[in-house]
Amino acid sequence: MAKINDNYLKLKAGYLFPEIGRRVRAFAEANPSAKVIRLGIGDVTRPLAPAVLKAFHDAVDDLGTTDQFAGYGPEQGYDWLINAIIEKSYKPLGVSLCTSEMFISDGSKCDCANILDIFALDNVVAIGDPVYPVYNDTNVMIGRTGEANEKGYYENIVYMPCNEANNFIPALPTQKVDIIYLCFPNNPTGTVASKAELKKWVDYANANNAVIFFDAAYEAFITNPDIPHSIYEIEGAKKCAIEFRSFSKTAGFTGVRCGLVVVPEEVMGTTTTGEEYSFNKLWLRRTTTKFNGASYPVQRAAAAVYSDEGWKQTKEIIDYYMENARIIREGLKEAGVTCFGGVDAPYIWLKTPGNLTSWEFFDKLLNECNVVGTPGSGFGPSGEGYFRLSAFGHRENVIEAVGRIKKNLK
Ligand SMILES: *Cc1c(COP(=O)(O)O)cnc(C)c1O
Repeated sequence: MAKINDNYLKLKAGYLFPEIGRRVRAFAEANPSAKVIRLGIGDVTRPLAPAVLKAFHDAVDDLGTTDQFAGYGPEQGYDWLINAIIEKSYKPLGVSLCTSEMFISDGSKCDCANILDIFALDNVVAIGDPVYPVYNDTNVMIGRTGEANEKGYYENIVYMPCNEANNFIPALPTQKVDIIYLCFPNNPTGTVASKAELKKWVDYANANNAVIFFDAAYEAFITNPDIPHSIYEIEGAKKCAIEFRSFSKTAGFTGVRCGLVVVPEEVMGTTTTGEEYSFNKLWLRRTTTKFNGASYPVQRAAAAVYSDEGWKQTKEIIDYYMENARIIREGLKEAGVTCFGGVDAPYIWLKTPGNLTSWEFFDKLLNECNVVGTPGSGFGPSGEGYFRLSAFGHRENVIEAVGRIKKNLK
């Protein structure tokens, strides 16, 4: 019989979202007339911007004509999309990139996972706690870790606790690490890092020949003009950082699928024999061998985000979510709840009132307010005692949910 990759067996069963689903179903069956409002999911709810939708339709029509038909495109993505992103999203930040440094993909989750292909297994990896579970689980799957302990921490991964005491920005590791995952604005905590804070990480990476994986999936939600949108706004970052971006939350592409990776030419690693080698070259090789590009209509739709109309309409949708975030944040504060995030990110991370555990607060909110959120402990042990609410819902539901919570907690 063929042998399986038994690293997969080290994974804890997907517990968080199935368990939420189970409890919500049980509640709904027992209380059929209750109107349950879901502020738990990390999915968007607004439709595509009209200019984006039009470009998407037009590109599908192209495929039906002999002249405009598009078959295989460049594996790295079309130049017209890459150039639009560089001009509209990076130049205004003072960041200049070459087209050869950007790779268009079918989403950022795959990129965050696939990037591990081009790094040796004996690199030491550091990830935040709480964290987007993809970073942790993909390292388990590829065989970099031992088993998990009773807390859920895997052997050979360096976990960096993020909590109130450190403003949800991890401290530099005390042991040497080779790969560091950073996500700002953060999912799940909704918190951000200043330029000075990111500079510490870039300096650490350059001093230790480490590589930073910077997940900027939520950069478009930043409202504070001093908060960096890209790691490359930090001096020295082009030597040590790979950045991930996604159209999913920015432009409502969770079902459309488009993302991108930036691998600057200067980011170097070493071979087993000690010579320097460029990660950009390896990623290009990986991409051309294992990927045939994001679909043509999807890339046309993504490019339309950068048209004057598409840009304006996309910003309006982001503003809608951020107004939801404000309503949630201010409502909770009025109810006496301590909360974080929600200013530069569509997530509010709250401290459970009365020292309840994350799951106890989940049950209280579900039973007494008929509101569903996400227990912080599901994102890692340091999330215990915290709870995530998402601003991606419909406005009237957000207002109703916040009203119920305020009434309940007052
Ligand atoms: C939603 C999200 C992504 C984007 O994933 P896609 O595959 O592009 O939809 C990436 N990172 C984080 C932290 C996210 O929450």
